[in-house]
Amino acid sequence: MTREQAQARIAELRRLVEYHNYRYYVLDQPEISDEEYDALFRELQQLEAQFPDLITPDSPTQRVGAPPLSAFPEHTHREVMLSLDNAFSEEELLAFDQRVKRFLDLPADATIEYTCELKIDGLAVSLTYAEGVLTVGATRGDGARGEVVTPNLRTVRQIPLRLQTGQTLFDAPPRVVEVRGEVYLSVHEFERINRERAEQGEPLFANPRNAAAGSLRQLDSRITARRRLRFWAYGIGYCEGASFSTQWEVLQQLRAWGFPVNPHTRVAHSVEDAIAFCREWATRRAELDYATDGVVIKVNRVDWQRQLGATARAPRWAIAYKYPAERAVTTLREVRWQVGRTGVLTPVALMEPVSVGGVTVSRATLHNIDYIREKDIRIGDRVVIQRAGEVIPEVVAVQVEARDGDETPIEPPTQCPVCGAQVERPEDEAALRCINLACPAQIVERIRHFTSRHAMNIEGLGDKWVQRLFEQGYIKDPADLYSLHLHRDALIALERSGEKLVSNLLNAIEKSKTNPLERLIFALGIRHVGEHAARLLAEQFGSMDALMQATEEQITQIHGMGPETAREVVEFFARPENRAVIEKLRQAGVRMEAERTARGATPFAGLTFVFTGELQAYTREEAEALVRALGGRATSSVSKATSYVVAGPGAGSKLQKAQQLGVPILDEAQFLEMVRTAQAQ
Ligand code: NAD
Repeated sequence: MTREQAQARIAELRRLVEYHNYRYYVLDQPEISDEEYDALFRELQQLEAQFPDLITPDSPTQRVGAPPLSAFPEHTHREVMLSLDNAFSEEELLAFDQRVKRFLDLPADATIEYTCELKIDGLAVSLTYAEGVLTVGATRGDGARGEVVTPNLRTVRQIPLRLQTGQTLFDAPPRVVEVRGEVYLSVHEFERINRERAEQGEPLFANPRNAAAGSLRQLDSRITARRRLRFWAYGIGYCEGASFSTQWEVLQQLRAWGFPVNPHTRVAHSVEDAIAFCREWATRRAELDYATDGVVIKVNRVDWQRQLGATARAPRWAIAYKYPAERAVTTLREVRWQVGRTGVLTPVALMEPVSVGGVTVSRATLHNIDYIREKDIRIGDRVVIQRAGEVIPEVVAVQVEARDGDETPIEPPTQCPVCGAQVERPEDEAALRCINLACPAQIVERIRHFTSRHAMNIEGLGDKWVQRLFEQGYIKDPADLYSLHLHRDALIALERSGEKLVSNLLNAIEKSKTNPLERLIFALGIRHVGEHAARLLAEQFGSMDALMQATEEQITQIHGMGPETAREVVEFFARPENRAVIEKLRQAGVRMEAERTARGATPFAGLTFVFTGELQAYTREEAEALVRALGGRATSSVSKATSYVVAGPGAGSKLQKAQQLGVPILDEAQFLEMVRTAQAQ
């Protein structure tokens, strides 16, 4: 390659890498797999190594991550947070070991001690503790500056708000210490989030790392709290008032301070030992309920780490050994369009069964029609499928060179494969939809959703049962479940169902009548109303009747509810068929009122609060939640109907409006006094 050619390719690679960095780090929506990204990055690194004079400080190979998003306040790390260099083979690990020794002036046959830590596929954060108290939690950002996400990190239960002291090494906490670690999601939780997003028609997170990042970088910490993020600590950045001689000692200290440290960490006495660890975990990692994408190998001695130092992007004393993604090649035989609860048609690839990472796979998702077109996937193609953890396998690529001309393009259906109704593609959506609300597939999916664990949680009523009961004409909508007891004998007579099974089922249905209102709202399957939105609606309106009468304006006033959701809610309750189902549920005795506070009192019932300006004791969301917990309403705009405006320093137009309308104004102390009096009632 000539210098000119290299220059052009380098420019192109930089543009591509920057683009994918932005999608990955800023939007949490990567478009290509990590392997494809790594290949681009590597090519860039290699070209730059060949033509070192073309390296510029702004090349992505010389930088970490991406700058912080302006939506969050910025935090400057006291000690930079670097990325890690990668090794994709055992040879590259051996080369790393040689490099370390050359740098330390050690003979080539010397042995070095390394710690081996599983590389958790989450995102790095830095937690600053001053006098032992958590003061700032920040993302890595571009390594120098990250985003302050302290309120969100406080929702991660495994992160201590205060360091435990007096156990080892130090009696008192260091004056200031930056604890580094990985925020991650369990595979279970990741799947739950994606299931919920699929139901809402929202784009799915590509992997647990992106889901964890998306959950942590939320402006509303209540959303973060619902995502049940977890944490492993693995390092210390800046530290004033304590020092360590090995990485192993660091990990022990972190544990003593009360942090979770991954139990599968080990000291390897040589690089060969470290390689053995990587081999062992290549298969064992499948046993874990969290995603790992490799092993981080670190020089154990801290003085050697210092001597080795770092490049602009990564330390020289550590390397990430990356496992290849689990992939296999097979033939695509057929595409089936599955109809979801909201009518969304999802293309599913039916393939010749093939083993991927020890699991036989014959179905994989093709996501949507745009995805199929973009990758030009055809029936009869040899396709590459990928499985990551427990996630649904997906078709990631086509082997175009294997085509023999008999492959046929995949045509999107114009009619619903189940009911034959017309299929539409709403503008600004990638999804095709069956528009027939009475489509049997949609009805069955809606009933399934109604009974599911996070909705009405009717145990013993699996997918097959729902399908059977629907086909036999016993249930046509969710409310029919509550008259199933009238058909007790007929149910027992149904093939494969015994008396006990039916009794258990009927009991579970009966029990579900007393579920909290928020579950019922979620169970109705209103578009865009997930568990979280359902809870907000239940808290705010207190009863199904009040919710059914709510206007779009009233709903958008709830912090965290957007106009689209509000429109869907109002449209849902405007439909006579939905109102009829709710009436049937009411007749059956399903609870339609929110639970009252612990003492059964709702001292703020009928009162509406608006908060403006800064609060000291609580965040605005917390104060609003407090009002709702006491039976009141919290809205964001002032009107004559507002009972009180609580104004803190910096209050602006809302305060003025309250003054104009003569709405009583409280300061924070007066508000808290009201809360205390109310709670004492
Ligand atoms: P990295 O993920 O390769 O390694 C560094 C990170 O490892 C640390 O920041 C930390 O978060 C994590 N880590 C986990 N366990 C650790 C431990 N025990 N000790 C230290 N660190 C540990 O580097 P990166 O800079 O975060 O991301 C680069 C990678 O991200 C790429 O190699 C690629 O796979 C992926 N990426 C993908 C895209 C895409 O479009 N698909 C875009 C950008 C980056």
